[in-house]
Amino acid sequence: MRLVATTKLVWNEERMDSYGRIIDYLRISVTDRCNERCLYCMPEGYKGWAKKADHLSAAEIIRVVEASCGLGFRKFRLTGGEPLLRQDIEEIAAGIWALPGVQTLGVSTNGVRLERHAQGLKRAGVRSLNISLDALTPQVYRTITGGNVEEVLRGIDAALGADFEVIKLNCVLMRGVNEGEIWPLVQYAAERKMLVRFIELMPVSSAGVLDESRFLSVQDAMVMLAAYGRLEALPEYRPGNGPARYYQLAELGARVGFIGALTTPDFCESCNKLRLTADGKLRPCLGRHGELDLVPALRNAGDVSGVILEAIRNKPENHEFAECYEPGRPMTAIGG
Ligand code: SAM
Ligand code: SF4
Repeated sequence: MRLVATTKLVWNEERMDSYGRIIDYLRISVTDRCNERCLYCMPEGYKGWAKKADHLSAAEIIRVVEASCGLGFRKFRLTGGEPLLRQDIEEIAAGIWALPGVQTLGVSTNGVRLERHAQGLKRAGVRSLNISLDALTPQVYRTITGGNVEEVLRGIDAALGADFEVIKLNCVLMRGVNEGEIWPLVQYAAERKMLVRFIELMPVSSAGVLDESRFLSVQDAMVMLAAYGRLEALPEYRPGNGPARYYQLAELGARVGFIGALTTPDFCESCNKLRLTADGKLRPCLGRHGELDLVPALRNAGDVSGVILEAIRNKPENHEFAECYEPGRPMTAIGG
């Protein structure tokens, strides 16, 4: 991690939203395209892709990051869609990492193309990887994503070989689909000294995804894990200040994270992020519809920082997932 000189007191006031949260994290969707078709993410028959010409260029993405750094943002993550589908992903990462204010740079990926990109991403400055892995059993993995788990496992091996500072595995919980994968995933991650996080289903592709029969809460997942050993809460352990709450499986010595967006009452209290969509909209909250268009400012030499500050001021207190939220566009478009 780099050391960055700060004048925190000046910046904090501007970056504080209406609820006292300091916003210093930007998640950047570099494409809405994906090479998998996860049941919970990509609506069947989806046709609402952005035109390639509407995707921000590498230079435009880097300009947004530069403006964010000027406001005191320090943490950045490239996501999508599947970010490794962008031919210029390493160029984007290197351009961001070269900016003086950037403290941490991560990538979220499904891992399918990681084998060929792991070393290049590390060289470009990427510090942390979040890799989606919903199952180890090939058939279960295929049912959920449409893909081949062997490719992802080779990608994970390549990432381990490239020596990233942090590698986290993400597994979306689905009752009747992958609860049998929870314990094998914990063991797999522990053996390789990676963190694994279990995520509650959110209605981010269609409201129907949150079907009661398929929803598995993080509390239920903990009960299932407790059959394999004692789970001890680690309230002080918050790597990257993310939304996960961590527990330790005492016997295994493994740390396991739980992201309970639907069932954790104070889930939004420590939210520190804005999202940038692949087509240049700033989204203050994943679970609310509001967006601000950055494209006019970007393409007409306008005030990019001003739009970012407006997005901070517009950040709502909470998501609306539990209130029959109907996504306007799916997570691949918004950026996960
Ligand atoms: N393609 C990359 C990947 O799969 O990691 C990055 C984008 S993906 C949208 C980012 C994260 O969002 C993944 O961990 C994925 O599991 C999660 N995600 C997608 N749809 C979700 C849903 N309906 N509920 C909870 N998490 C979801
Ligand atoms: Fe693609 Fe990631 Fe969405 Fe799966 S979760 S469809 S891999 S963007």
